[in-house]
Amino acid sequence: MSSPRKILVTSALPYANGSIHLGHLVEYIQTDIWVRFQKMRGHECWYCCADDTHGTPIMLRAEKEGITPEQLIDRVWQEHKRDFDGFHVEFDNYYSTNTPETRHYADTIYTRLRDAGLIEVRAIEQFYDPEKAMFLPDRFIKGECPKCHAKDQYGDNCEACGATYSPTELIDPYSAVSGAKPIRKTSDHYFFKLSDPRCADFLKDWIVPPQVQAEAGNKLGEWLSGGLSDWDISRDAPYFGFEIPDAPGKYYYVWLDAPIGYMGSFRNLCDRNGLSFDAFWKPDSEAEVYHFIGKDILYFHALFWPAELHHAGFRTPTGVFCHGFLTVNGSKMSKSRGTFITAESYLDHLNPEWLRYYYAAKLNGSMEDIDLNLEDFTARVNSDLVGKYVNIASRCAGFITKRFEGRLGAVDAAAVAEFKAAFEAGEIAQSYETRDYGRALREIMRLADVANLYIADRKPWEMAKQDGREAELHEVCSTALTLFRDLTLYLKPVLPRLAEQVEGFLNIAPLTWTAAWEPLPEGHVINEYKHLMTRVDPKQVEAMVEANKQSLEPTPAPAPVRHAEHQQHAAQSGEAQAKETRPADTGHISIDDFAKVDLRIARIVSASHVEGADKLLRLELDIGEARPRQVFAGIKSAYAPETLVGRMTVMVANLAPRKMKFGMSEGMVLAASGDAPGLFILSPDAGAEPGMRVK
Ligand SMILES: [Zn+2]
Repeated sequence: MSSPRKILVTSALPYANGSIHLGHLVEYIQTDIWVRFQKMRGHECWYCCADDTHGTPIMLRAEKEGITPEQLIDRVWQEHKRDFDGFHVEFDNYYSTNTPETRHYADTIYTRLRDAGLIEVRAIEQFYDPEKAMFLPDRFIKGECPKCHAKDQYGDNCEACGATYSPTELIDPYSAVSGAKPIRKTSDHYFFKLSDPRCADFLKDWIVPPQVQAEAGNKLGEWLSGGLSDWDISRDAPYFGFEIPDAPGKYYYVWLDAPIGYMGSFRNLCDRNGLSFDAFWKPDSEAEVYHFIGKDILYFHALFWPAELHHAGFRTPTGVFCHGFLTVNGSKMSKSRGTFITAESYLDHLNPEWLRYYYAAKLNGSMEDIDLNLEDFTARVNSDLVGKYVNIASRCAGFITKRFEGRLGAVDAAAVAEFKAAFEAGEIAQSYETRDYGRALREIMRLADVANLYIADRKPWEMAKQDGREAELHEVCSTALTLFRDLTLYLKPVLPRLAEQVEGFLNIAPLTWTAAWEPLPEGHVINEYKHLMTRVDPKQVEAMVEANKQSLEPTPAPAPVRHAEHQQHAAQSGEAQAKETRPADTGHISIDDFAKVDLRIARIVSASHVEGADKLLRLELDIGEARPRQVFAGIKSAYAPETLVGRMTVMVANLAPRKMKFGMSEGMVLAASGDAPGLFILSPDAGAEPGMRVK
């Protein structure tokens, strides 16, 4: 491997005003897997996060509970930390934004922007609650929707008709804090001049890969070409936050200091561990900095944040990795349906690694939403993890303990070499690196299939009953356990606790990426096999859903939006809208069912007759992987092999590999046929490239 990289990774800061739920966990699990992968590869990788603690909602909630904001954020910090620990999300530092470090960098950035002429003071008129003596954020003003006249709608958008508007358009507005009729009042606000040509010029070159995903770049380009507005970064007292140094009574808006909290958390880690903060944050730093975020806060992280950093003399992120939202059973999370599931409640009923595995299987590095289909979740965990993976150890380990005193025999090195050749370890690393965990897990499960076939072909349980087959039995079980060790290694970023159990059972050092494919040594003593993972019982899932059912009047499911105050951007971009796609009952499949079939454009690299086969041709198909797939296709009657070479067609890439008399078939080519004779393979239009997904 080349020299170790220096990497700082963050996840978005959860707001200290509510519980962690399964929607949040998509991001923390996604990030944690990536960080664990980098660490297993031997890189210097630091994962920092913090609670986002400032703003009006925190201030008001603390007041309502009769405690100080500091007491509230301290309690919520404990809860959040407990939930993250429960899901094995392993931060190197989990901190808070209400800290001297974050204040220091907020002041530094603010002062430098001011000195660069990028801060402007402007008087603006806002709603003011005369009873509470405070200015009201949009979400704390309610009234009648100007479009559909629904009552009690928020100041920025209507939940009845979906309209967005400004609070001044509301009919009969009232303060959601005191109920008083708000008045209009003028006050000085501080703006970061994002409209300054220096910002636009810098950003137009910045919002491209690799800093952002191509799809995010398109969205950001639209915002940029629409013209960026200056950003209001101050709020008036009373406010829970940091007072602006040269402006008494004015506070940084929570969204100014939230991303600065990444720096604050890292600074705190540096001070405790003797690391150099500057080595990561100076403008010419060779270290890499990545932010994992949800698409609702893209605006903040890919426009405001890099523009601020650049003009305040800091480096900008190497990459902003944006993911989609979570739906459960095809719909937005819902308290009435019991699918608004908190982290705590999940842990009361189910194993956290089941969810880590399922999310990983669904994540592909894009901004698409992912769906937690609870039936599919049960089926997938049971078939992949228990049926395929754990099964390898449970079928072979007992013989080693009972028949060979726990001592391994010689491993069939030729078999291991054959599996190694059939398996793309480099592709797994590449898939983890690009956050296409779904692809990594498909490849890993392909190896699990191969390992299971190896065992099924040799039938150690029959060997055990026959005289004179001790040596064979010993070799097969030892070989299978070597394969199991390698599967564990590749699954370890996703399943860290299970991997630890396996390391204990196999009596080996913690697995790192380079340990793969070395046969376990002959004579090595393993510990007795204990059950590694149970199956998901659908009753447990039902109990969890039941426990989360609340008979509330329909409130909007708080999607992974962390602050009431920042919903406007998601609403503006149309991304906050609900996706109500109920699965159909009969005859139809859901889009999610269809999405399980991984159809890929393939180039036929070679085609040949198969000796002894009447119907089959042997094809080698390039689908953009390191090595072409071998597929045996029953199309000999319709095509001469030489006419196929170089053609593009469509294949099913995630069909379980099948061992045939002639070799392994690693997928399926699609062909049309009807009542009349004839077979017709498919061709894509010109321009399609090998590996493109058909969907
Ligand atoms: Zn309305």
